[in-house]
Amino acid sequence: MDKIVRALSKDGLVKISAVDLRDAVERARNIHRTLPVVTAALGRTMCAASMMGNALKDAGDSLTVRINGGGPVGTILVVSDSRGNVRGYAQNPQIDLPLRPDGKLDVGRAVGRDGMLTVIRDLGFGEPVSGATQLVSGEIAEDFARYFVESEQVPTACALGVLVDRDQHVLAAGGYIAQLLPGAGEDTAARLEENVRKAGPVTAQLMSGTVEDVALRILEGFEPELVETDEVTYRCNCSRERVLAALSGVSREDLNNMLHEDGQIEVKCRFCDKAYVFTDADRELLIKD
Ligand SMILES: [Zn+2]
Repeated sequence: MDKIVRALSKDGLVKISAVDLRDAVERARNIHRTLPVVTAALGRTMCAASMMGNALKDAGDSLTVRINGGGPVGTILVVSDSRGNVRGYAQNPQIDLPLRPDGKLDVGRAVGRDGMLTVIRDLGFGEPVSGATQLVSGEIAEDFARYFVESEQVPTACALGVLVDRDQHVLAAGGYIAQLLPGAGEDTAARLEENVRKAGPVTAQLMSGTVEDVALRILEGFEPELVETDEVTYRCNCSRERVLAALSGVSREDLNNMLHEDGQIEVKCRFCDKAYVFTDADRELLIKD
């Protein structure tokens, strides 16, 4: 069961979100048939988007993360609802690269760093609010840490990790975002930094313990209290109506031709494996004046 936990230090100066998103990242791998380096890149982005979405206030809000670093994986796009349920894709899911010299997946090279990390918050009214920063390394966690500091002026420690087994399935996926709140001093920052260093890679923590353990370990010495837990999942909100609306951009002539050739039009959702079939019987719905 995937979930997000939130905890706060007793003095109210440090907050943390931590997520275990193994099932959702495995689901994304199955939908998109991603190879390991893309599973890691997409999975790390999903973990960050899920935690950021979970911090939105209202039920109808949503958050979109777009990463485009000019690497072979192309654009990574992830959408989270206000609970932290996510959906996403990578433009080129079947990218394969040699491992780095340290034996790790070369996410930085797959993503590239010649581009931007963009976050768009749709708060259900007015224009969506967006912020963007230049990518640092394409390794994703570092890129989000910079985004928070530069775009939102919040000092942030961010760890994101996806551990892929030899048979390519996802063994662990998760991460945390720990942030200093107004009033936090140098000593608080130093202790948080030390905790992050001592805790080690987040995937190793998730392999040996729970996501609650992760949050409490990072806030060790701060007398942390768990304030909230939410179950999350891979969730797509596509529907026949939405797909139909997307088809409104296709010209009447093209639609007619498609229907003439096979007698049906099949449209696959970009985020999940659902296919929507429209036939001659839908001609009136599809082709309007
Ligand atoms: Zn869908």
